[in-house]
Amino acid sequence: MDWNSFARHARDIADWGADYHQTLRDRPVRAQTKPGSIFNALPATPPEQGEPMDAILQDFHDIALPGLTHWQHPRFFAYFPANAAPESMLAEFLTTITAPQCMLWQTSPAATEIETRMVDWMRQAIGLPDAFTGAIQDSASSATLSAVMTMRERALDWAGKEQGLSGQPVLRVYCSQEVHTSIDRAIWFSGIGQDNLVRIPTTGPRRAMDAGALRQAVEADIAAGMKPAGIITCTGGTSTGACDDIAAVMEVAEAHDLYVHVDAAWAGSAMICPEFRDLWAGAERADSIVFNPHKWLGAQFDCSIQFIRDPDALRKTLAIQPEYLKTTAEDEIINYSEWSIPLGRRFRALKLWFLIRAYGLEGLRMRLRNHVAWSQALCERLRTEPGFEIVTEPVLSLFTFRLDATHSDAQNQALVDRINDDGRIYLTQTLVDGTKAIRFQVGQFDCTEADVETAFHVITELAAEDALS
Ligand SMILES: *Cc1c(COP(=O)(O)O)cnc(C)c1O
Repeated sequence: MDWNSFARHARDIADWGADYHQTLRDRPVRAQTKPGSIFNALPATPPEQGEPMDAILQDFHDIALPGLTHWQHPRFFAYFPANAAPESMLAEFLTTITAPQCMLWQTSPAATEIETRMVDWMRQAIGLPDAFTGAIQDSASSATLSAVMTMRERALDWAGKEQGLSGQPVLRVYCSQEVHTSIDRAIWFSGIGQDNLVRIPTTGPRRAMDAGALRQAVEADIAAGMKPAGIITCTGGTSTGACDDIAAVMEVAEAHDLYVHVDAAWAGSAMICPEFRDLWAGAERADSIVFNPHKWLGAQFDCSIQFIRDPDALRKTLAIQPEYLKTTAEDEIINYSEWSIPLGRRFRALKLWFLIRAYGLEGLRMRLRNHVAWSQALCERLRTEPGFEIVTEPVLSLFTFRLDATHSDAQNQALVDRINDDGRIYLTQTLVDGTKAIRFQVGQFDCTEADVETAFHVITELAAEDALS
């Protein structure tokens, strides 16, 4: 392709993109396709000869687009949001065009230095002390794996890297049932093993880890000759938004010199609003904190910030320097590939820079506060609506509800399916203490109060249909 054709296609895509976003409300939120239909629309063998770009783009519209679930749809109330503010899309377009590799300072100084500045802007924005630095990772899963690897090596005085785990003391890591499955996977990949991920029971409406039970578990493990390595806490668990009492956990951690990682992948964005910070009080004493600006804040996927108190412990765990990666630049430079698991790194800081400048923190706070207020108002309406009950109270903009006790799990699941087949809104289910509940979170960047109002009508209308059938 010549670059004039590139420019023409890029302009066409931009025009189409603006129209796509302006008409999103007319599309069903969740893809309404049958499994296999898109796979079968693709030729079974790759083309031998090149095809014209117009034909390729036409197939995007005809084949791929109908099979997309529209995560930027204003009535996306499922899972957690994956917001992409238009400014962050523009930044990603520039990153796509320049396509730099940002593993070392030398391989793109701007990427490294903007990243250092953006991590510090975000640190200030969410109210963490200046003892924290950090790096932008691709995902919370990678950040958690980095934290668990650091936990492991720190507990073994960095012997695991050299010697492997056999012959080392048995390491133990503690968390509640409410943490994300990325924690289980980090425990598998780090060689610590699922049997050594100790589940601490939860207490109270926030489903926080019981700090007394945590202390007992740690002490019992030490008495049994095992080696506690760290604790993983959550602020805003995926199922119902569970929040550990991090300050209480830190008491135990500090008494036994344990490394503490906080998974606030979703809820971390809300900490730009000071009034929500009591949810993670104590996080300022943790060793590692991850939150995903690519969820609620509006920085297009992928963009996950890991804040760390002791980058040397992380670097000692992850860094490796073969000759071809050695640079001659001065000592004060940072090579961020030493702070993360993959070597290659995208220029992720650019979209944060664009996003924060375009909205200002006040503009971002306003959106998040609206989402929380609208979600909580909907929760109150459903509480008084006959036939419904609230299962878990709102944590920020997430609550769960269900059809009242005369209804089975299957009927609740059928309602979720009916709602998502209808297409006007999209939401998902979870299990709360073994019982099916319907999750509702408000967080899409362009969502309005009227969209949440629509959700109320869709939910009550489709629930009533069940009563008639
Ligand atoms: C989304 C989420 C994750 C996983 O995030 P990725 O960036 O997709 O790896 C982990 N923990 C929590 C609490 C989450 O909400």
